[in-house]
Amino acid sequence: MKSPFISYDPSKCIHCQRCINVCHNIACNSTLKSSRSGTYHIVDAPFGKDYKESGCESCGNCASVCPTGALTLKREKSYRNWEVKKVLTTCPHCATGCQYYLVVKDDKIVNVEPANGPSNHHRLCVKGRSGSFDFVHSGDRLTDPLIKDRATGEFRKVTWEEAIDYTAKKFLEIKDKYGSESLAGFACSRSANEDIYMVQKMVRTCFGTNNTDNCARVCHSASVSGLAKTLGSGAMTNPIHDITHDVDCILLVGSNPEEAHPVVGMQIRRAVKDGTRLIVVDPRDIGLSKQADIHIKLRPGTNVAFANGMMNVMIREDLIDHEYIEKYAEGYEELKKIVEEYTPEKVGKICHIDPDMLIEAARMYATAKKAPIIYCLGVTEHSTGTEGVMSMSNMAVLCGKIGRSGCGVNPLRGQNNVQGACDMGAMPTDYPGYQKVDNEEVRKKFESAWGVALNPNPGLKATEVFPAAIEGKIKGLYICGEDPVVSDPDTHHIIKALESLDFFVVQDLFMTRTAEYADVILPGISYAEKEGTFSNTERRVQRIRKAVTLKGNMRPDTDILTDLMNAMGYKQPYLTPAQIMDEIASVTPSFAGISHARLDAGESLQWPCTGKDHPGTPIMHAGGPVRGKAYLYPAVYKESQELPDEEYPFMLTTGRILYHYNAAAMTSRTEGLMDISGEGFIEINHKDAERLGIDNGERISISSRRGSITATARVGRKVSEGETWMPFHFPDSPVNELTNAALDDFARIPEYKVCAVNIAKIQA
Ligand code: SF4
Repeated sequence: MKSPFISYDPSKCIHCQRCINVCHNIACNSTLKSSRSGTYHIVDAPFGKDYKESGCESCGNCASVCPTGALTLKREKSYRNWEVKKVLTTCPHCATGCQYYLVVKDDKIVNVEPANGPSNHHRLCVKGRSGSFDFVHSGDRLTDPLIKDRATGEFRKVTWEEAIDYTAKKFLEIKDKYGSESLAGFACSRSANEDIYMVQKMVRTCFGTNNTDNCARVCHSASVSGLAKTLGSGAMTNPIHDITHDVDCILLVGSNPEEAHPVVGMQIRRAVKDGTRLIVVDPRDIGLSKQADIHIKLRPGTNVAFANGMMNVMIREDLIDHEYIEKYAEGYEELKKIVEEYTPEKVGKICHIDPDMLIEAARMYATAKKAPIIYCLGVTEHSTGTEGVMSMSNMAVLCGKIGRSGCGVNPLRGQNNVQGACDMGAMPTDYPGYQKVDNEEVRKKFESAWGVALNPNPGLKATEVFPAAIEGKIKGLYICGEDPVVSDPDTHHIIKALESLDFFVVQDLFMTRTAEYADVILPGISYAEKEGTFSNTERRVQRIRKAVTLKGNMRPDTDILTDLMNAMGYKQPYLTPAQIMDEIASVTPSFAGISHARLDAGESLQWPCTGKDHPGTPIMHAGGPVRGKAYLYPAVYKESQELPDEEYPFMLTTGRILYHYNAAAMTSRTEGLMDISGEGFIEINHKDAERLGIDNGERISISSRRGSITATARVGRKVSEGETWMPFHFPDSPVNELTNAALDDFARIPEYKVCAVNIAKIQA
């Protein structure tokens, strides 16, 4: 297959080598090469028929520096430069928060051009460059409010007045009959901060409950709760640039940034090229494990044992920072006692790794001057996810690698605004800025600002709302922009919960699988049609800007929420997104200095930003941990909740691939991405495949205690024997029909990363 996105015309090439330089030194993918054809030098660009076999990631960074048009993005041919306007905005996929321009011709986005953002510095990945605007113009967009006739199951188009009145009336009826705690509302980690703030405000002021949450619950809630417990702030400690440039060693745990945060991945590749040592801790061979100094290919679900083993070595060999511990930590003696038991030999057996490798990794990390820990869902999505996060924090604190440049504990948050969704108070325990709902002083402040009495009781977490719906305790649910039928574990249990509700409303761009179960669907607008902000993984608040106005009866999400609030009897004035951000700043000390005006004036602000003149905070915990003293939590290793047995003898883990994002609602609407990767697959070890007679490329069945699906087998050495791995993007292989909804004790995050499955050939 040829590249769906990039074309190459050698006759226009002037051999300036800019594309090769970008590919080697900026994207650091080394796909483009210089070669000779007779007496001529040519650029060997693999965009022809063997494209799929090349290592090209279709990032297009080469084409964006070509001065002659020899390398071009194919879509650039659809417009001339003088016909378009360019609107600076933020990528809507992952939380790297790359900055780019939407190129707009006649109210249609025709291209994306990179900008010099603080986290991307002109780089983009294939999703940002090529998968971030087709969905905006998709013919599948919802254009009118819909109400379902429960008797027939059919939706009918209605006016906004009818949809708003009906929705408000139904929620108020449920509130009157069953009380406030029978209602819940979720915000979306892909929405703007201003939308999310309004969702949680509606739930708190109109529903009268704190039953509000967002999909961080199922990805990084363990980071929020774990790092808040150990350091006093549940967010990434250092900026992306700071932890990928001029550092001595990177400890990368349960994170595959080349696919999930590709522009971070490019910067880690660059760091390795520049001499940074890399320790990869991952059950799978990921791209970066090939470049790593050490790859600890541990058994899924054993992160706590791994970290305790690392600390055992650090303490035994006296590689720890006594001065830092003395001054800034508590709980050392208890932690020391626990980790004494985790000798490298014992950890080797638990994690299925070589004890010497563990010793070497501990020495490498502890003795490096500048060494960040970077981690992702491989740490959080376990029934011991919060303990896994606290173990990452323990390692950094023991070595005094907190509050310093090039160090810290750095969760790569997943979705574009999952950081913001938590910051904005879409959490059952916290108002915006992590102010606790059960703190009377805080509650009084919000009561005074919002003009209503507020519920003092923490609400249910999203993963608790679904079981509560099945039990009949939750009767009405509002979901803004999420698709839990696809994205949450154990699909059948989610569907049962939605079917148990008396009333269910979805606000979204598309008819998702979740929306099919709704009583009312309200069509919102995308990031390219509105003003607002996203907060990226490094706590940086960045603008999104309106680039197009589309035909249809869709409405700005904040206006929909304002209408609903007024219809439910709360007097909410209509505010612009900039005014909503001013309101957020007025009630949230860590956002007090953030405004659209400052961002539009070119300032780049990372919270905490506590005043109009405050420059923001790139590195957290610089003067000591926010908590005062870091808490060294004594975590004990516990096995995953569902381990392989005779009936289900394989371990399944799940994750992301480069070409799609989450439920693929956006990326699946770009044809080229589907051409490159359009069907579900499962990675299995070649020895297991041989034993079961499974061939590479064969469609096989995978079953767990919760369901059965099919996927195409990819046979190889990426996963260890007895283990399998699947991406969670593809409707033809809905992997969450298999995953386990077992929850972590602290954050109630589900254990996506380990469940027991059986795999088998499909009988003809
Ligand atoms: Fe978008 Fe993430 Fe890719 Fe950047 S790395 S372009 S934010 S998907």
